[in-house]
Amino acid sequence: MSDKWVVLVTGGTGLVGSAIKQVVTAELLARPNETWVFVGSKQADLSDLNQTKALFAEHKPTHVIHLAAMVGGLFYNMSHNLDFFRKNMQINDNVLSVSHEMGVKKVLSCLSTCIFPDDTSYPIDESMVHNGPPHSSNFGYSYAKRMLDVMNRGYFEQHGKMFTSFVPCNVFGPHDNFSEEHSHVIPGLIRKLHKAKNEGSPTFTVLGTGKPLRQFIYSLDLARLILIILREYNSVDPIILSVDEESEISIADTAKSIASAFDYRGEIVFDTSKADGQYKKTASNGKLRKMAPDFKFTNFDVAMKETVDWFVQNQSIARL
Ligand code: NAP
Ligand code: GDP
Repeated sequence: MSDKWVVLVTGGTGLVGSAIKQVVTAELLARPNETWVFVGSKQADLSDLNQTKALFAEHKPTHVIHLAAMVGGLFYNMSHNLDFFRKNMQINDNVLSVSHEMGVKKVLSCLSTCIFPDDTSYPIDESMVHNGPPHSSNFGYSYAKRMLDVMNRGYFEQHGKMFTSFVPCNVFGPHDNFSEEHSHVIPGLIRKLHKAKNEGSPTFTVLGTGKPLRQFIYSLDLARLILIILREYNSVDPIILSVDEESEISIADTAKSIASAFDYRGEIVFDTSKADGQYKKTASNGKLRKMAPDFKFTNFDVAMKETVDWFVQNQSIARL
């Protein structure tokens, strides 16, 4: 039947992919006409064109949620800008070109609010993706992500394809990458605080000044929003998937929330010799709010506690 959907989720084993898997299975948000396929790099290295073709030939997706990417926190980005650019350009070109060849009806690719210009007015909105250089700390990742938007527009203009993108703010939740080398701020601080607590350490060190501001979305909320746009959003233009602007929080207050989830009573100290990265990237979710005006985001401290509990209880499978 023509309305049978096969939804292929690339990056399906990561933070965001695992959350989508959870909402389509545990929350029963999959529809009867949909088959969901979640793949990681073990199923296919998407930076390799032949492996990408074989994967698509096997599953014959009608829809693709394209999450797979080389991903990392500020410090990993700062030391690997070239790798981020090349690897993500390869993956993205393969996924979109093979989607086109195989007649995929819709591709949703994942951008990030950190790819917007550094020198900008606030709040940032979807029209600003290409307005000026990104922050120097992650230019490789940012330009590769921006090129997804360029390719989406090209596939639409030349071939009439509905290849589009969504733009999450910072994401956190179960199944994140908690490793010292790759982690973003929340999983990085959770790993460190877990160790500090176990060792009875009187202090816990946060990198940088603690002053930068971030919008954090719980991975399960993001997954629920991705399902909405998969079914209802039909424009090539990107759409920002972020918590409200009022939910922006400093890194220092984020560290306090993590300490509270661990019931850690020691002192939080700041290593100001380390980089702060972008000061803020406040994004407007106005476009999303028009589609989902009543969407309720999980309370930040509640989501943090669930994430910390998951980490503590899943040491054997967590990426450390
Ligand atoms: P993640 O947990 O590191 O997961 C990355 C996923 O990509 C994994 O499933 C990984 O597979 C897969 N992957 C990486 N290289 C691959 C390759 N060469 N071939 C095939 N698969 C490959 O990352 P995430 O945080 O879920 O990120 C998902 C998407 O969200 C990315 O596009 C990222 O840029 C975007 N995003 C993330 C954040 C954030 O704060 N985390 C914020 C905004 C946007 P394996 O597990 O097999 O390695
Ligand atoms: P970004 O939002 O793209 O900049 O990426 P991150 O998730 O890596 O957040 C970086 C912010 O958190 C910067 O202001 C860092 O100085 C701060 N930060 C504090 N401690 C850590 C840490 O242990 N790891 C990381 N990645 N960032 C930290």
